[in-house]
Amino acid sequence: MSYDNNREYDFEHGWQALAGLAGRLSRRLQSVQGTNDYAPVRPWEVVPVEPCPFCADGGMRTAGYVTRDHQLLPVRQCDTCHAVEIGTQLYMDDATDVADDDADDEDDGWDEGNDDVAH
Ligand SMILES: [Zn+2]
Repeated sequence: MSYDNNREYDFEHGWQALAGLAGRLSRRLQSVQGTNDYAPVRPWEVVPVEPCPFCADGGMRTAGYVTRDHQLLPVRQCDTCHAVEIGTQLYMDDATDVADDDADDEDDGWDEGNDDVAH
């Protein structure tokens, strides 16, 4: 299990969101990041973290923003099942297509710099 139910993760800093997604960016997120309309979240910006609607285990972490039709839309990805959300649009189709993470059983060792020491 990735998350303690009692753990609060409603908000975090931008660098924490990026650290949580490091090494597990889906191809869809990477392709969005490659566009001129994309702006990454700033390190000390406070961004929301919401429970993932798909896996109900991970959190939707804010990676940055993309400008679409003159609107600034948040770009978020689940740190567990890799679903991507752009604005209110959810993408689950290629969520398992992650560049350098081929197995869900290697869930350990990714959270350096992500954990506030809670004990
Ligand atoms: Zn998820």
